[in-house]
Amino acid sequence: MIHIAHWIGGAERPGTSGRVGPVFNPATGEQSAEVDLASTAEVDGAVAIAKEAAKGWRSASLSKRSAVVFTFRELLAARTGELAAIITAEHGKVLADAAGEVARGLENVEFATGIPHLMKGSFSEQAATGVDVYSIRQPLGVVAGITPFNFPAMVPLWMCATAIAAGNSFVLKPSEKDPSAALWLARLWAEAGLPEGVFTVLNGDKEAVDALLVHPDVAAVSFVGSTPIAKYIYETGTAHGKRVQALGGAKNHMVVLPDAELDAAADAAINAGYGAAGERCMAISVVVAVGEIADPLVEAIAARLPKLKIGNGADAGVDMGPLISAAHKEKVIGYIEAGEREGATVLADGRKNEISDKSGYFLGTTLLDNVTPEMTVYTDEIFGPVLSVVRVDTYAEALQLVNDNEYGNGTAIFTRDGGAARQFQFDVNAGMVGINVPIPVPVAYYSFGGWKASLFGDSHMYGPEGISFFTRGKVVTSRWPDPGTSAIDLGFPQTR
Ligand code: NAD
Repeated sequence: MIHIAHWIGGAERPGTSGRVGPVFNPATGEQSAEVDLASTAEVDGAVAIAKEAAKGWRSASLSKRSAVVFTFRELLAARTGELAAIITAEHGKVLADAAGEVARGLENVEFATGIPHLMKGSFSEQAATGVDVYSIRQPLGVVAGITPFNFPAMVPLWMCATAIAAGNSFVLKPSEKDPSAALWLARLWAEAGLPEGVFTVLNGDKEAVDALLVHPDVAAVSFVGSTPIAKYIYETGTAHGKRVQALGGAKNHMVVLPDAELDAAADAAINAGYGAAGERCMAISVVVAVGEIADPLVEAIAARLPKLKIGNGADAGVDMGPLISAAHKEKVIGYIEAGEREGATVLADGRKNEISDKSGYFLGTTLLDNVTPEMTVYTDEIFGPVLSVVRVDTYAEALQLVNDNEYGNGTAIFTRDGGAARQFQFDVNAGMVGINVPIPVPVAYYSFGGWKASLFGDSHMYGPEGISFFTRGKVVTSRWPDPGTSAIDLGFPQTR
């Protein structure tokens, strides 16, 4: 049995808690490894090492820090395939999707190579007579990242590239469901020349998370996961004096206006609804069909579903892999049953797809029509290959639906009418908006984050807000004595 340890002080360290968790290959249902689950004492020990390392790392010059991040970028770009294979083996998503995940993470590393520019402050000469004022940004010390199973490489890269480039030590607590990518990243940081202790991986569950949340030497916590846990992380972390950004779940709506390009909208609904088996925080889970486009749109989506090849994500030509676990598969099936019971029209039933009977956590694609806002398939984040269609008569009704929803991560509108799209962008209560783009994940030089129950805290992730989150500002007001009053004649300047 493969054993997945921690990464502490620049090397792999087997756990000492005596507690381990199983790691499965979702495509076979077989256990592939066991992972150490850190105790509070192990967290304390690792944070102490990270704290010591942070002192040296923040003193390294900006160009040295940038050079290490740049080397990391080169290594990561050269070995994308290796990391993608690890992701597929533990998460289940298809290889091309896993490579795409790494590519999006890589963008964040590239952004972080510009740290000398990103850390620049401002300077005001002669704020008062002989007085200058300037601002500088400094790292926080030890910062922690707690990440979900669905992007085992990209979400850690969202956080660590910026945090490390800014001069912090970064402690990662990855998902215990697919922890190998984190260890792989740790080895790569070491190879890139990052000093020992600056990047730490603490594998674990609630015990490790709780230890980080209350640790006095952890200055900030960046979290991505489900909404109930995000809320808990935010409340507990801030109650212990930490800076916290906690990104939660989502229910992303794609509004399709009657004038939308039908095939483009149907393709987008398929990609965004069923890609990664719906296990994306930016997945489209609700299509809001406005007016007369509903019938042809539903028909076009339904017609595409049988063409999706579902299977082991490691095999060529597969479009959709399995779900993360047996328990999650059962949960998703429970939602389909509830949808049927509550009156949704089941146009495609993933339970009846023959793939759902295979070993591994496969579930076919489900399309539910005539979904209404009271149904649990509408109110809850399902996080599976289930797409709901809500039919409305007008743009105003569609907008109201999106804005009344508890979540506000991403949303999209499909239309040929620029004015309508602009109005939607103006009116809609969501953090990320796509116009004829179904999954509007911002590029690395903007920041990622939702509104409402999709984010707790006031800072979005990566990009400029990431730099701001992982640094703190200091403003210096300075007055120097007139050089003419100095008692020591240095012989320079010769202006006396
Ligand atoms: P999760 O909330 O179960 O777990 C996330 C992290 O929290 C993991 O590291 C886990 O070990 C830890 N954790 C779980 N339960 C805990 C507890 N009781 N106390 C302390 N820590 C705990 O989420 P998940 O199932 O791994 O990921 C899927 C969820 O993440 C979905 O809801 C999805 O929408 C969300 N997500 C959001 C974004 C975003 O950017 N908003 C991105 C990716 C995923």
